[in-house]
This record gives sequence, C-alpha cells and structure tokens, in this order.
Amino acid sequence: MAIYSLGSINIDHIYRVPHHTQPGETLAATDYTRGLGGKGANQSVAAAMAGAKVFHIGAIGRDDAWTLDLLRDYGVDTANIQQIKTATGHAIIQVDPSGENAITLYPGANRQISDAQVARVLANARPDDTLLLQNETSAQFASVRLAADMGLRVLYSPAPFELTPLQDVIPFTTLLAMNEGEAAQMISTFGGLPDCDVIITKGAQGAEWHRLNAQTLTIPAFDVHAVDTTGAGDCFAGTIAAALDAGMDREQALTRAAAAAAIQVTRHGAASAMPSRADVDEFLA
Ligand code: ADP
Repeated sequence: MAIYSLGSINIDHIYRVPHHTQPGETLAATDYTRGLGGKGANQSVAAAMAGAKVFHIGAIGRDDAWTLDLLRDYGVDTANIQQIKTATGHAIIQVDPSGENAITLYPGANRQISDAQVARVLANARPDDTLLLQNETSAQFASVRLAADMGLRVLYSPAPFELTPLQDVIPFTTLLAMNEGEAAQMISTFGGLPDCDVIITKGAQGAEWHRLNAQTLTIPAFDVHAVDTTGAGDCFAGTIAAALDAGMDREQALTRAAAAAAIQVTRHGAASAMPSRADVDEFLA
C-alpha cells in the first residue's frame, strides 16, 4: 500500500530583524535560517517517517536541489516532483525581537502542477492506496475525482480554508482532517460538517473523529511541554494517513497521530521535527 501526496513544497527563509522593515528601508538581518515547509512536504515527511511508502506529487524550481535532497533524506519518493521554470514556493519570514512574524509568501511552482501530471502518477496507484492533499497546490479537483473513481482513500486537509476548491473536493473526500478554526469556518459556511469522516484537531485539547451514524471517537492530547506547534496538524494528518495505510483501525490511528504530534510540538521546526515510527513506539511504550 502507498500514499500519493499531492502537496506543496516551500522553502521558508527566516530572518531575525531588529524591527520589521519600513517602506523604503533597507535593514540588515542578524540571523538567517532556511527550512523546508509547505503543508504538503510536512505531511509527506510525517507519513514517510511513520513508515509509509510516500510518493510526493509536486513541482519545484529548476535550480532547486535542496528541497529534493531533504525530502529524499526523510524517506519520501521524489521521482514525481517536476522541476519547472517557475521558482519553488517560498516564504520570506521576518521575526522581530518580540517574536512577531511578517511573512511574504510566493506559491510559485506549487500552483503549476497540472491535472495531467497527477493523472500520470495516479495511473500506477491501486485501490487500497491513499491520496493525501491540502489547499496549497493546483490540480486538486481533477486529482480527487480520479482517485475516488479508482477507489483510493482520499484524505484532505482543507487548509488554508478556501471555498474553491473546498466545495468541489469534499464530495470525493473519504476523510477530512482540520483544526478547530477550519471546522468553525466549515460549519459557518456550509451550516454543518459534511457526511464523510471528519477529524477535528483541537491543539492541546486533543482530537475527535466524527463518523456519520457512529459514535464520535475522542483522544486527549498527551501532556508534553510544547515549544513550537508549527506543523502539528500536518504531523497529525500525515501520521493518520500512514496508520490507515498500514491497516490500523480508527482508535489506533488516532492514538499514534496524537503521540506523533505530541513529540513534534516538543521540537523546533516543522518537517525537521517529525518523529520516526520508533520515536512513537517508544513514546507509547
Ligand atoms: P494545527 O497545527 O493544524 O493548528 P492543532 O493545533 O489542532 O493543529 O494540533 C494538531 C494536534 O497536535 C492536536 O490534535 C494534538 O494531538 C497535537 N498538539 C498540538 N498542540 C499540542 C500541545 N500543546 N500538547 C500536546 N499535543 C499537541
């Protein structure tokens, strides 16, 4: 079984600055770090670290070997990531001494993924495979339609919350995974939750799994000292995908995802903070 992850790949350029730049100002940063980001890359890394075979479907700039190498190092199959003329999606993040961010985001190559590219890759998929996706790329609608036709499990994180493609994608979704804020937007926009399975994550309050005509499963968050919650939801979604792909039931999948996310928030970073399967085994032992 395998996970096809149609997902964004971003480079986060993080600059520490004495204050946020003013119009017309040139300001020297005091520190610079580069991180792998994008909800898609984060979820692919989380699922691969959890032990799943993950084929990432995406696009990056021609000159960008860095993200490819990193994804490979985390165990993600990168053969279906196209290198194109448009630059890799990236975020320029200024962090001032109070810790406040100012972010410029360029989606870049993430929005250049074509329906045909996804169709070529999914031609190799089998009915017990999973399509994992979020809202940071192009080609979602054609991809979910094809995946649903082929009988794949479709796990969708509707983030960032956007009416299109959300309303087109949901009818083909098997399992929706979102945080409380997105769930509130969903309920106010559509007057309720959709009929498919829905996982709502609630930060330090844990998570719940809703299923039509079935009892809602809930899991409290593990009690840990969180230092950076960036990517916690992606860790949760990627781990759920891997757990279901490995044949676990809902309860087992929820437990592993909550444990993985609990470990992830005790570490700094997003993709770089995803725990391995062994880390989660040890945490739950
Ligand atoms: P998102 O990152 O999408 O906003 P959440 O904040 O809901 O998602 O976090 C996703 C999951 O990560 C939670 O359901 C929980 O299992 C875990 N998590 C998040 N914050 C904490 C925390 N402070 N302590 C323990 N687990 C946490």
